[in-house]
Amino acid sequence: TRADITYFGAGPAALPTDVLETAAQALLDFNGTGLGIAEHSHRSELATNIINEAKADLASYLDIPASDYEVIFMQAGGTGEFAASVYNLVGAWVARQHAAIIKELAGSGADDEAAVVAALQGRVQTQLKLDYIITGGWSLKAYQEAVRLLGPEYVNIAADARTINDGKFGKIPDQSTWKLSPDAALVYYCDNETVDGVEFPEFPAVLAPKADGTGPVVVADMSSNILSRRVPVANYSLLFFGAQKNLGCTGVTVAVARRTLLPPTTTQPSPALMRKLGLPIPPIMLQYETIAKNNSLYNTLSIFDVYIAGQVLKKLLKTYPDKVDGQQAVAEKKASLIYAALEAHPEVYRIVPDKAVRSRMNICFRVTKNGNVDDTEKAFLKESVSQGLTGLKGHRSVGGIRASNYNSIPLEGAEKLARFIEAFAKA
Ligand code: PMP
Repeated sequence: TRADITYFGAGPAALPTDVLETAAQALLDFNGTGLGIAEHSHRSELATNIINEAKADLASYLDIPASDYEVIFMQAGGTGEFAASVYNLVGAWVARQHAAIIKELAGSGADDEAAVVAALQGRVQTQLKLDYIITGGWSLKAYQEAVRLLGPEYVNIAADARTINDGKFGKIPDQSTWKLSPDAALVYYCDNETVDGVEFPEFPAVLAPKADGTGPVVVADMSSNILSRRVPVANYSLLFFGAQKNLGCTGVTVAVARRTLLPPTTTQPSPALMRKLGLPIPPIMLQYETIAKNNSLYNTLSIFDVYIAGQVLKKLLKTYPDKVDGQQAVAEKKASLIYAALEAHPEVYRIVPDKAVRSRMNICFRVTKNGNVDDTEKAFLKESVSQGLTGLKGHRSVGGIRASNYNSIPLEGAEKLARFIEAFAKA
């Protein structure tokens, strides 16, 4: 039964049982309305309340300055955000350059629309760059999506962890070696690489805003570690995360976008202008300004998914009076327990990533007893399941074992896994 297992799957992840019980009831009959939450109109007042409460609770839990950031519910997963970040931030870059060129050419006698477009075309060709820091499979996919949408000439690999680790992921290149472009449309990184178990220990200092508030346009994928530690939100232009690990169930993705990227400060360039520049036009579903303007209800949003996320946030806020800091302390404690059990038996376990960058959320290791990895890992997985510890198989692309230590894993679950790791090594 549900009570007998601790599920360490990488996503979808386990959800708190009491949240699911409340949601199950809401699915049948929401608040005595006779209609379930998945049946009510997304245009109803109750749907709007669910969205607004979830937004407010997320902002409260993470201390998102509501006056500076817009919280948007989207529907295309983390993968959709790989594309959305490119479309929206290239659009914002073009809008900035467009405004600057109009100013520069004003009164020069060569300031008609054709001259402005010609200057903009030149600037796109010579200066448009998107920087990617590649530290694992997910930032690699995001980079590949940017290349697919724009062409390789606009996309710069600022750092690639594989170049310092024999072609494998597991380290983060020193920030002094990152090759950042001047005025990049975005600098992209993945805060926690779910497959490779690599997490940025903190915000990369080289990307921090300068004293005057200006700085790089930083984008981060926080799909697999959001809500597990404090985020210096003000350092980002955009952060996004799928719900299905720490927030809720699959089906909604959250984008937290700096308001200055949205109207009235910045408006996406017209499709006609983008076509003249040879740049792609965002599908309306991925255009932040459209979704934000409609309070995430441009089209039919799954209110059930937002409701679940909202219930998880309410539970977190109730459990931790000091909000994300409280959850962070628990997450760190759970991760150290598991890593300590692995480190105690180096003859049996090899932790995959470097100690300095190993993830608190996705703990990746190999089991190498008797020199035979495959059979030993099979035995490890089989025995773990018999003890009620499930979902530990590593991602198909890298193999090995992965313990996903998301927020819904209770301290006792992490303790149970640590004891099993210990016992398996000794057996
Ligand atoms: N980014 C990260 C860090 C992920 O872990 C995942 C999925 N596991 C994705 C992006 C892709 O998310 P989705 O499957 O929702 O498109």
